[in-house]
Amino acid sequence: MLKRLIRFLLTALFVLNTAVHPVFAQTEGPVYIVQPGDTLFAIAGRFNLTVNDLIEANPSIDPGSLAVGQELLIPGLDGLTGKLETEVVTFGDSLRSLLRRTQVSEDQLRRLNRLISPSELYVGINLILPVQEGQTSFTARFSPAPAESLFEIAIKQGSDPWALASINKLDGAWAALPADVLYSPNTNDESSSASGLPSEFVSASISPLPIHQGSTEVIRARTAGDTPVSAILADSTLQFFSENGEQIALQGIHALLEPGLYPLKIQTTLPDGSVQSFEQMVVVTSGNYLEEELVVDPATIDPLATEPENITILSVVSPSTPVRYWNGQFTSPAVYPDQFTSFFGTRRIYHGSGTDQTIQGFHGGLDFSGGEGLEIFAPAPGRVVFAAPLTVRGNATIIDHGWGVYSGFWHQSELLVSVGDFVEQGQVIGLVGGTGRVTGAHLHWEVWVNGAQVNPLEWLNQIFP
Ligand SMILES: [Zn+2]
Repeated sequence: MLKRLIRFLLTALFVLNTAVHPVFAQTEGPVYIVQPGDTLFAIAGRFNLTVNDLIEANPSIDPGSLAVGQELLIPGLDGLTGKLETEVVTFGDSLRSLLRRTQVSEDQLRRLNRLISPSELYVGINLILPVQEGQTSFTARFSPAPAESLFEIAIKQGSDPWALASINKLDGAWAALPADVLYSPNTNDESSSASGLPSEFVSASISPLPIHQGSTEVIRARTAGDTPVSAILADSTLQFFSENGEQIALQGIHALLEPGLYPLKIQTTLPDGSVQSFEQMVVVTSGNYLEEELVVDPATIDPLATEPENITILSVVSPSTPVRYWNGQFTSPAVYPDQFTSFFGTRRIYHGSGTDQTIQGFHGGLDFSGGEGLEIFAPAPGRVVFAAPLTVRGNATIIDHGWGVYSGFWHQSELLVSVGDFVEQGQVIGLVGGTGRVTGAHLHWEVWVNGAQVNPLEWLNQIFP
């Protein structure tokens, strides 16, 4: 009894206290969780604040050592509460679909992200969204078929039309439009999940996001009648292959593709010959590659030698074999897998020694340090499609892994496989050397994906597709 009385008094005191003293401005407002790579300066810029604004609102933080996961109060966002989370815009998202999925108001979204127009929702950009504790987010999405009413959808989904209208912020049970993206209160049900895409598409996606120079992108699509899918990303025509009812394409993003916005257009042709298509802009970001200068034998940068060789390589790696020979992660082709001397994508200026000749380019592969005569292993199974000496690349081997994916190995001292051979993952294919345009013996390994060189490290760390 006494305890209860004390508790009551304390509560009363607390209520009185907060009633008398106005709540301090800096203890209110939404909280941002510091992400890897964040700086105070970048966070301030993101919310249109100065670094000083942030420090004033968060007096206890040490601007010199921002910790990932640390909570920062964001001032100046009156009326907003909760945690500010980052969400990547995916293919098929629209402003309407995003607002419904996250249950955030349009006003909040615009204020947090300084969006001017709904058309600014580019695939791959990060949006900041306030998330309240216990807030439901909806992932089961569907699109009404032409002439289908919300009543019919509700019956199919075991829901009621008013619940659907409320979740989807519709004015009434009559306000859904064909091909609009709606969310259902039912949990993920793949059969009912469509997207902002045309009705024939069950799903379509691109990952990983954001896309960056030198990345490998996986584009997946499912259509209702398994109708053929075609697509264009930037200026590349994608090559799709069927697997488990899904159509999958792999595409390398050129290391020198200017960062910016590019279209991803996907379409399917129905049996009656009609076409359904969908296009959205995607963001391509910089690979943040470094620069280096190299002095080499002038003969190896002479366009008369380099051009025909480039054309040869391109013609070898251009076909898309419809079989996928690999499964799972690639393994390192080098005896010392962690000893790199040069990474993929580095901008390079080559000087011909004793001349004023220079050429510019980028490093198309990954260099492993030295060791003349060390064994080179096939990183994944495949068919040998090239094994011969070249001027720039020295003794070169190219393996076709299928689906438009190729591995190249340059500068070898010895070639141990021949064109037509099928090699297994880990099989010795040659020996490290210093032949061609090199400053010393090393293994250069490169990976091509549908006509573009990509960062090979991603193939050692991730599973594609
Ligand atoms: Zn190299």
